[in-house]
Amino acid sequence: MFEVVIGLEVHTQLNTKTKIFCSCSTSFGDEANTHVCPTCLALPGSLPVLNKEAVRKAISFGAAVNATINKRSVFNRKNYFYPDLPKAYQISQFEIPIVEKGELFIDVNGEKKRIGITRAHLEEDAGKNIHESDHSLVDLNRAGTPLLEIVSEPDLRSSDEAVAYLKKLHSILRFLNISDANMQEGSFRCDANVSIRPKGDSKLYTRVEIKNLNSFRFIQKAIEFEVERQIEAWQDDKYEQEVVQETRLFDTAKFITKPMRSKEDSAEYRYFPDPDLLTVIVDDKMLAAARQIPELPDQKKARYVRELGVKEKDAEIIISTYENARFFEDLIAAGH
Ligand code: ADP
Ligand code: ZN
Ligand code: MG
Repeated sequence: MFEVVIGLEVHTQLNTKTKIFCSCSTSFGDEANTHVCPTCLALPGSLPVLNKEAVRKAISFGAAVNATINKRSVFNRKNYFYPDLPKAYQISQFEIPIVEKGELFIDVNGEKKRIGITRAHLEEDAGKNIHESDHSLVDLNRAGTPLLEIVSEPDLRSSDEAVAYLKKLHSILRFLNISDANMQEGSFRCDANVSIRPKGDSKLYTRVEIKNLNSFRFIQKAIEFEVERQIEAWQDDKYEQEVVQETRLFDTAKFITKPMRSKEDSAEYRYFPDPDLLTVIVDDKMLAAARQIPELPDQKKARYVRELGVKEKDAEIIISTYENARFFEDLIAAGH
């Protein structure tokens, strides 16, 4: 018998008006390369300046998931080459993220479970490559959009738990109003890390990372396929050959995962502190302000049960998405 082990990385775009290191607009869907400047085009001599709103939103997320908010955090350069990354490095956080050691609670089959959040760090998004028949185009409107990368502990034990975690996270982001978390527009993207192990074993086995999943259904299907593939490999005595640390892509037509590339170790990114940016200092005033967060899904659920006499199970459905909860509260406000 096997146990499934899943850890999720979510990249969510923070809904600031301007980019994280320049004053270009983050507006989506406009004509290509119209929201660019020397900084996000990486022209020589340009310098990044940190957007305070992005910091504020990141720490309010930290407060919402009961995390440690680091009073000092540092930006690093993550070096790699890609056409939509004009500097040939991405500014991210590495050793000291702004948020770490948080938690989130999910309900699956009537059981409440705590999922650890390892860290949440600020970074910039890349641009977008558009591949056409015999050529490719690069749109840098998205380059420099603020992202919060939220990394979970490998605490999830099924595709159902993974989806429950993502839905909870999604609604927390929406209630905090720190991200549109629009999956179609790519402002909430998930990488799923999946491994299996014999039940009772506590060590972690080889993980496969499935990149850029952008719908709850695809995430569920990708994990299910991957678990089955790994179990089959184990049972056929081919685990060592067929389950290797790699990045895979989910084929949304065939519902299978396929190898994309072998997984880089962090050493290959040659991280080092970005000398163009100062240490990020979160002072007590910012911390106190960030802790003023609106009522979150778990609190709403408890209140609906306690004050409105809603059944536990129904309350869970109401808070499962931001839209449901808003609709429910609008009805209450209208006197229903
Ligand atoms: P990377 O950027 O190299 O993918 P991160 O630390 O950002 O590394 O993310 C690693 C993710 O993989 C985390 O969510 C973690 O919980 C998960 N993870 C690590 N080891 C395993 C494993 N053996 N099985 C499943 N998930 C794992
Ligand atoms: Zn710019
Ligand atoms: Mg990863």
